[in-house]
Amino acid sequence: MHSLPLMLLLLTVGSHGFPAISETQEQDVKTEIVQKYLENYYHLNNDRERIAKQKNGGQVVEKLKQMQKFFGLKVTGKPDAATLKVMKQPRCGVPDVAQFVLTEGNPRWEKTHLTYRIKNYTPDLPQADVDQAIAKAFKLWSDVSPLTFTKVFEGEADIMISFVWGDHRDNSPFDGPGGVLAHAFQPGPGIGGDAHFDEDETWTNNFRNYNLYHVAAHELGHSLGLSHSMDIGALMYPSYTFSGEIQLAQDDINGIQAIYGPSKNPIQPAGPKTPQVCDSKLTFDAVTTIRGEVMFFKDRFYMRVNYFYPEVELNFISLFWPHLPNGLEAAYEVVERDEVRFFKGNKYWAVQGQDMLPGYPKDIYRSFGFPKTVKNINAAVSEEDTGKTYFFVANKYWRYDEHKRSMDAGYPKMIAEDFPGIGNKVDAVFKKDGFFYFFHGTRQYKFDPKTKRILTLLKANSWFNCRQK
Ligand SMILES: [Zn+2]
Ligand SMILES: [Zn+2]
Repeated sequence: MHSLPLMLLLLTVGSHGFPAISETQEQDVKTEIVQKYLENYYHLNNDRERIAKQKNGGQVVEKLKQMQKFFGLKVTGKPDAATLKVMKQPRCGVPDVAQFVLTEGNPRWEKTHLTYRIKNYTPDLPQADVDQAIAKAFKLWSDVSPLTFTKVFEGEADIMISFVWGDHRDNSPFDGPGGVLAHAFQPGPGIGGDAHFDEDETWTNNFRNYNLYHVAAHELGHSLGLSHSMDIGALMYPSYTFSGEIQLAQDDINGIQAIYGPSKNPIQPAGPKTPQVCDSKLTFDAVTTIRGEVMFFKDRFYMRVNYFYPEVELNFISLFWPHLPNGLEAAYEVVERDEVRFFKGNKYWAVQGQDMLPGYPKDIYRSFGFPKTVKNINAAVSEEDTGKTYFFVANKYWRYDEHKRSMDAGYPKMIAEDFPGIGNKVDAVFKKDGFFYFFHGTRQYKFDPKTKRILTLLKANSWFNCRQK
């Protein structure tokens, strides 16, 4: 069986505007991005002259369609904005069309007790940190499968790990800082299973690029026979996003168990599932407006719809705000301050656009005057015209004055009295065009604050243009 190198690649083109370049230059850059991307991950023929003669014709369109389908984009065959955005994300370099899996069956180790050896170390981190990152990466996979990994210090191990640079004689030279970060080979003898890390990168043990534990965990998935997943929450998703906690998603667990069977642990391990935007059972942790858009929060993810992307965008909260916790409980926007506040437990954080404001988290008691009996906020929404913010806690609500910066007298009051019909608990709420939208479980209520009446009962995910069943 031949060994396809599985690479982790960072496309170095910035995702936000190129300063003052002409339209022709922009077109050239665009063509180059598309060309490179499709060559790297969709086996697009890289015979440039031939392609040029065809004017990037049929083959490019076909490959673009494949790519759009894989990423759940609108299948246009054109390099539209949404497609380019995905192409510019840092990602792993294994082709998304992994033909070897189809033609030769799933590559796998024929034994469950495997050995690994760290051949050399990067100077970027203390040796103990490298040892720990690699050991933790292996442990992710051994925890959920019958596989075990034993570290050896000499001789040939099943999985050899090394830090190398430039041409290191496996026909897949590294390319200096950025670009290709690492690659790993599918199970097999010799170089099979081995993982190489580009020494020209800076390896870290934190959120800075590139977190060794994270990259190693992904590459070892390839070393064990996994290909890329279409689940954005999976560690085996092609794009690299550092999302704080590094863990296997349920999808990764399903993948490795499909190859090697379940864990020997009597209690089968479970991992987080990625929300399905059109699942009729979808519920939300928090919803808020932000600069004219509406953002929905669930576990580690945000979802949003806007004018530019017809499909729902689902991604890690940490992509925008690396320091926010997952599992937010409430969020609201103060439009006149251009500020969004996020709540979890008795703490809250404030952001302006993508910037976290300094000095957070703060506690809700000192800032808003909640009594200590309030342990967390279920939902919050602020009215632009009055400067009043409503906080929903269990079956009661408080009203806070953003101008006076104090809680209004006479609160808390009962939700059922002033917002009749929405039930006695709120998961999330936001305000748009004069109406409140309350979420409770899979239900959503459009509420008119002037008449205190529910106007419409909706599914919680009604904003996602899902086809109704
Ligand atoms: Zn990969
Ligand atoms: Zn290599």
